[in-house]
Amino acid sequence: MFEKNKSIIGEKIYLASPHMSDEEYEMEYIKEAFDTNWIAPLGKNVNEFEKELAAKVGSGHAVALASGTAAIHMALKAAGVGEGDIVFCQSLTFSATANPIIYQNAIPVFIDSNYETWNMNPEALEQAFEKYPDAKAVIVVHLYGLSADMDKIAELCNKHNVVLIEDAAESLGTTYKGKHTGTFGEYGVYSFNGNKIITTSGGGMLVSDKEERIAKVRFWATQARDKTRHYQHSELGFNYRMSNIVAGIGRGQLKVLDKRVEKKKYIFEYYKRELGNIEGIKFMPINEWNALNYWLSCINLSGQVRPLDIIEALEKENIESRPIWKPMHLQPFFEKYDYIGGDVSEKLFENGVCLPSDTKMTDGDLERICNVIKGLWK
Ligand SMILES: *Cc1c(COP(=O)(O)O)cnc(C)c1O
Repeated sequence: MFEKNKSIIGEKIYLASPHMSDEEYEMEYIKEAFDTNWIAPLGKNVNEFEKELAAKVGSGHAVALASGTAAIHMALKAAGVGEGDIVFCQSLTFSATANPIIYQNAIPVFIDSNYETWNMNPEALEQAFEKYPDAKAVIVVHLYGLSADMDKIAELCNKHNVVLIEDAAESLGTTYKGKHTGTFGEYGVYSFNGNKIITTSGGGMLVSDKEERIAKVRFWATQARDKTRHYQHSELGFNYRMSNIVAGIGRGQLKVLDKRVEKKKYIFEYYKRELGNIEGIKFMPINEWNALNYWLSCINLSGQVRPLDIIEALEKENIESRPIWKPMHLQPFFEKYDYIGGDVSEKLFENGVCLPSDTKMTDGDLERICNVIKGLWK
């Protein structure tokens, strides 16, 4: 086999890229599917991956889907969100959190973040409930592996009898007060896209304790075929299931999730040690109730050195970094929708940088990165 984990000075360093297990667990599962010609459709790897992931996060049931985006779409549909319904959605996020609201012809109302968590501000959410008492669902996000303030957010959703959906696409492995993110709401969503903490090349998972709702999603996502011999459809269907090969990669990757979290934490701590005393650099907030997966190490700048200075200086050295997500309420496509809150998400976007967080990086790579950044303060 090729040396998939080696890193060479001068070679490109990625923000976060696929990292298969040294043990090649993924290959065993793929080979089993291959040898039995069972590469598709569905099959044992899909069933087992669903069970193994649900057990890992402590959720009752799971359905493996083609992407995290598909999982958010199915969560909204399962929650009964339809035409004209209001959905409160965290503004500071990737567009895939919000797009499915539009797929369902519903109306997003974007909610600001707070500095304490970088995620949804419970006070802004409370204001949103005052303005839109008939809202149907809330989508909270756990960005970069940081968890949102789940006690407060879940309490507000309970009080207003609204379905809570957690976009945990970036936070698989993160716990809040000892419980996995993605298991506080009625629905939790994970992604196995190429740069996530574990990847299947592409894929997603929807989890819930509601067995009947998960079964319904499995039905919709498999083209909504009625239980008849001929092809009969009483409901709108989707082709959203995960293939048996992809699920095999997922089963192997799940075995090294804890190892990946450990390395991500090491990376964060390395940066913090090397850059933490520089005036004008603040690291993302680590709360005592939060055990992070440290998906990306992010910083917030307040001095002369701007995010673009860091991104461009690293780029010159063939090192990938990127800005914090641009809030949805500032996106040309979404700016016509209402927004509740202040300027926190906007400021986090303006001042934030995601540092390279690839788990294949060596100490030499980390030293190279830190030297480039320190150079900007000289
Ligand atoms: C990656 C991501 C998604 C989408 O997941 P895909 O599997 O790429 O569809 C959704 N939300 C957030 C916050 C993400 O980072």
